[in-house]
Amino acid sequence: MLSKTDKIDLSVVVPLYNEEESLGELTAWIVKVANELQISYEIIMVDDGSNDDSWNVVRRLSESNPCVKGIRFRRNYGKSAALHCGFLQAVGDVVVTMDADLQDSPDEIPELMRMIREEGYDMVSGWKKKRFDPPGKTIPSRIFNYTARKVSGIRLHDFNCGLKAYKNEVVKSIEVYGEMHRYIPILAKRAGFNKIGEKIVHHRERKYGVTKFGLERFVRGFLDLMSIMFISRFGNRPMHLFGSLGTLTFIAGFLAALWLGLRKLWFVYQGIEAPLVTNSPYFYISLTCMILGTQLFMAGFIAELVGRTRPDRNNYQIREIL
Ligand code: UDP
Ligand code: MG
Repeated sequence: MLSKTDKIDLSVVVPLYNEEESLGELTAWIVKVANELQISYEIIMVDDGSNDDSWNVVRRLSESNPCVKGIRFRRNYGKSAALHCGFLQAVGDVVVTMDADLQDSPDEIPELMRMIREEGYDMVSGWKKKRFDPPGKTIPSRIFNYTARKVSGIRLHDFNCGLKAYKNEVVKSIEVYGEMHRYIPILAKRAGFNKIGEKIVHHRERKYGVTKFGLERFVRGFLDLMSIMFISRFGNRPMHLFGSLGTLTFIAGFLAALWLGLRKLWFVYQGIEAPLVTNSPYFYISLTCMILGTQLFMAGFIAELVGRTRPDRNNYQIREIL
């Protein structure tokens, strides 16, 4: 058994949820590739609360090959949590992530490793240029990728590809939570890793089982896109957005109130009969602006406080480790 401090060449992290049919084939394939490369490796299978026979399969694979490690969640927490957990365990010099459904090919590993080790990339993301998924998935994915490219300035075609390779220090520096597995390159860039490459990879149709990503995850992915846009633009300075919006709104309201007040005084001074200030619609507009401005400012203040305390966003429970 390897201890945490032993260095090995490669960790393959595989998040899996109800993938009993493909695990044996996938493991044998990764082992074959690693043996051909003559490298030391580990395969970390993170069972994200499967309710089929996946965990028993992982257990058997681990018994027959000590390089196969298994982590089992208490329930389904999502792909991001599974990746995060695998990342914390990975001791390999290079860390490769791969979906469990055999849509990604382990044959890409040698080139991905070469790009990290010899070309000095911090991370390399796969690009499923020729994709075998239904249009219901590929069209939203195009929109995601376009937006992610625009907000991040990272020129990747396929942010969400499950097949990616990293220097170990990269996976230790990022926290993948929510649906953020779609935006790992953005998280990596934010953590200061700028050399992000892309490699066209073969993509195949799902051989067994069914996709786990439906409409609900699409919506969550969209909300996370909003937060990643916010993070990219304002980072941990939410006060800069809410605070300035709030201040501007407040000032507008205050100026309107001032104008109303001064006008009233002027009328009084001139001895002209003037309507009550509260009769003017501007009075209510200015009042609303001042209240809204204060609230926005407070929202920024609270966001700033929360951002600074940085609560741990992943709270998955591990049931078993092999
Ligand atoms: N997955 C997971 N937890 C989930 C959903 C999916 O660990 O809650 C795994 C799944 O088993 C697979 C990978 O994430 O290994 C990608 O999922 P899937 O193939 O369903 O996504 P798609 O390829 O259809 O985008
Ligand atoms: Mg898949």
